[in-house]
Amino acid sequence: MIFAANFKMNHTRTTTRDYIEVLNKKLATKKPEEKVYIFPPTTALDRYEGEITVGAQNAYPANNGAFTGEIGLEQLEEFGIKTILIGHSERRDILGETQEKVAEKFAFFKEEGFEIIYCIGESLSIRESGDDAVMSHLLSQFEGIDLTYDNLIVAYEPIWAIGTGRSATAKEIEITHAMLRTKVSAPLLYGGSVNPDNIGEITAIDNVDGVLVGSASLDAERFASMILS
Ligand code: PEP
Repeated sequence: MIFAANFKMNHTRTTTRDYIEVLNKKLATKKPEEKVYIFPPTTALDRYEGEITVGAQNAYPANNGAFTGEIGLEQLEEFGIKTILIGHSERRDILGETQEKVAEKFAFFKEEGFEIIYCIGESLSIRESGDDAVMSHLLSQFEGIDLTYDNLIVAYEPIWAIGTGRSATAKEIEITHAMLRTKVSAPLLYGGSVNPDNIGEITAIDNVDGVLVGSASLDAERFASMILS
């Protein structure tokens, strides 16, 4: 099972270090097949002790150059970062990343051999239009994306479930992941208001290979309890 924590614009360099220390201690007894990822803010990227994989929430698809406010491959390489989130709905919808830009990032970091957690998800109005509308939207977010890439993980994150406290139902997750499974053989994560109370039910669903967690991952003990549950 895969457990990924997306800190978004939360935590600092100091608190990320403390967090990882606590998590490492708590996870000393975790099963080796449980794979844990942390995506801290850019200022907290570093080489950390332990088995947790640290990834970038975002980066620009270039080695370096005149891209004010961005970081690129050179800045990630300094800390040995080889994992990246691409296509998160907050980057698409709040920060204006088009599918074309998302696909460009994907191609660049694929070429560099990064492990890519590629996020897709529909709005509430699309969800309310039914499964066919959901699937056609999700497929549109695969445009320009190499689904056969070996180092790919796909995260299905319905936008209406992110940060709202309202997770998709087990049935909705099951149906959507089953549809996605017919298109992609990569591990499939679910994300959207996963918490200690619902993680057991969610990870038991067919074709759910792990979870991407925002709010409930911000406290190390709470996130550890989800991994160990
Ligand atoms: C996310 O943004 O990736 C996410 C899943 O957030 P939350 O767990 O807070 O819904």
